[in-house]
Amino acid sequence: MEYTSTRNKNVTVSAAQAIVQGISEDGGLFVPKSIPSISLDDINEMTKLDYIGRAKKILAMYLTDFTADELDYCVGGAYKKGKFSSDDVAPVVTLEGNANVLELWRGPTCAFKDMALQLLPYLLTTAASKTVKGKTIVILVATSGDTGKAALEGFKDVPDTKMVVFYPQDGVSPMQKLQMMTQEGANVSVCAIEGNFDDAQSGVKKIFTDKEIAEKLANNNMMFSSANSINWGRLVPQIVYYISAYCDLLKQGKIKLGDKMNVVVPTGNFGNILAAYYAKKMGLPIDKLVCASNKNNVLTDFLTTGEYNRNREFYTTASPSMDILISSNLERLLFFMTDGNDKLVKEWMESLAKDGCYKVSDEVFKKISAEFKAGFCDDEKTKETINAMFKAHKYLCDTHTAVAVNTYFDYKAKSGDDKVTVIASTANPYKFSADVLQAVNEGEKTTADEFSVVEELHKATNEPVPAQLANLQSKQVRFKDVCQKEQMIDQVFKMLGI
Ligand SMILES: *Cc1c(COP(=O)(O)O)cnc(C)c1O
Repeated sequence: MEYTSTRNKNVTVSAAQAIVQGISEDGGLFVPKSIPSISLDDINEMTKLDYIGRAKKILAMYLTDFTADELDYCVGGAYKKGKFSSDDVAPVVTLEGNANVLELWRGPTCAFKDMALQLLPYLLTTAASKTVKGKTIVILVATSGDTGKAALEGFKDVPDTKMVVFYPQDGVSPMQKLQMMTQEGANVSVCAIEGNFDDAQSGVKKIFTDKEIAEKLANNNMMFSSANSINWGRLVPQIVYYISAYCDLLKQGKIKLGDKMNVVVPTGNFGNILAAYYAKKMGLPIDKLVCASNKNNVLTDFLTTGEYNRNREFYTTASPSMDILISSNLERLLFFMTDGNDKLVKEWMESLAKDGCYKVSDEVFKKISAEFKAGFCDDEKTKETINAMFKAHKYLCDTHTAVAVNTYFDYKAKSGDDKVTVIASTANPYKFSADVLQAVNEGEKTTADEFSVVEELHKATNEPVPAQLANLQSKQVRFKDVCQKEQMIDQVFKMLGI
C-alpha cells in the first residue's frame, strides 16, 4: 500500500514514511493510493474476534510495510486489558429504538482521542525504526482540548520522542486544562496561546513546513512529526471502531449481515467522520454519514451548499473540542471526491488560506451530498438534549455527544430515515462537568471550583467519576506558560534546548 499527497500526486511514500513525516512537504495530507476492501464474510469472521483482533486485521490492510509481529506489538500494547474501562474497548450501547451509542471515551484520558493516541506512539516509533533510526522525533500538537492530553498521555516518557502541546488559553474546559497542566513525563511540555484553536493549528502547520526550522532540527539530529489528525497514523486506528461497531450490532442481533447502518459523528477537524467514510469505502454497509456541528457550523454549510467559508464569527461553545473553523481533514475527502485531482485540491486549499473560502463544482458537491448529511445545534439545544436523554434513559451524555444526539433526532425527523444508527460518543461527561450539571439541573451555570462541580454532578446523576479525573485534584501543576502565537517557535526551541 502506497500513500500520496493530496496536493501532489507525484509523491509516493510508504505507510511508515507517511506516519513519521506527518504531513507532506507540499503542505498536503497523506492518503492511501487505493482503499482496501472487506467483504461481508470478512466482517462476519471479525465478529468472532475481540477489539485487538479486529484492529490487527484492519490495520494490516493499510500498514503493509509493518510485519505481523510489529502489528501484534503495537495493537496489543495500545489496547491492552486494563487500559480502557470496558473490555470491549469501544462498546456499543442502545440509547433508544434504533439509536445506538458507540462509546469511544473509555481510555486513559476519557476522550475518543485515546482510541488513536494510545496506538500512535507505537506506530510512530515502529515506523521511525524503519525509516529514520536514531533520530529524536519532535511532536508538535495543536489542541482544542482533548488531543493534547491524549497525546501527552500516549507519548509520555516514550524514548526518542519529545512533545510540545499548544492549546487556546480560553478555549478549553477547566478539566481539560487541568489534565494538561499536571501532565507527567520528562519529554513533554505544554503551553497556552493567546488565540483560538485555529491560531494554534495554523501556527503548528507553519512551523512544520518552515525549511529553516527543519534544518535547525536536522542539525541536532531531530525531526518534526505530528500527532494531530493530519497524521495518517491518527486516522487509520479510527477506521477500526466503525467496523467493530458493526460487528457488535450483528452480535447483539440489532442488524443482519449486509444491513446498512447510519453513522452520526460530532465533528471538528473532520477526522472522526472521515474514518467512518473510509470504513464505508472499504465495504462496510454504511448508508448516510451525518456530520454534527455546534454553532461553529462551517461544515453544515459546506455539506449543504458546497461552499466552504470560514469568514464568520468564531464562537466559544460548551463543546470546545468542536470549536473549529478550519477542518483539516476535509482536504482528504476532497481529494477522494475529485478522483484525486491534486491541482484542484491545492487551488481550493490556497484559496482557503488566502481568502478563507472556496466552492466546489456542482458535480463534486452532488457526490458529497449523496453520502453526507449535516446538522448543527447551539448550546441551549445541546443542554436540552443532555437533560432529555438523562430523564428518558438515565443516559448521561457529554456536550459533544449531545450535539450528535440532537442532530440525529433532527435528521431522523426531517428525513423519516429510522435506520439502525451508531452515534459516536466522544467524551466522558465529567470532562465538561459545569455544562453537563447545568443541563441536568436546568439552572444557572455554576461558578464553583471544578471538583465541587464533579461531586455535585455525581450526586445528581450517580454516574461514576473516572478515577483519572478525580485524581487530578491532588496533582501538582507543572505547566503555566502562556505565549503569543508568534512566539510558538521560541517555546519549541526552549523546550528542545536548541
Ligand atoms: C476532537 C473531538 C471531536 C471532533 O473530532 P474530529 O475528528 O476533530 O472531527 C469531537 N468530540 C470530542 C470530545 C473531541 O475531543
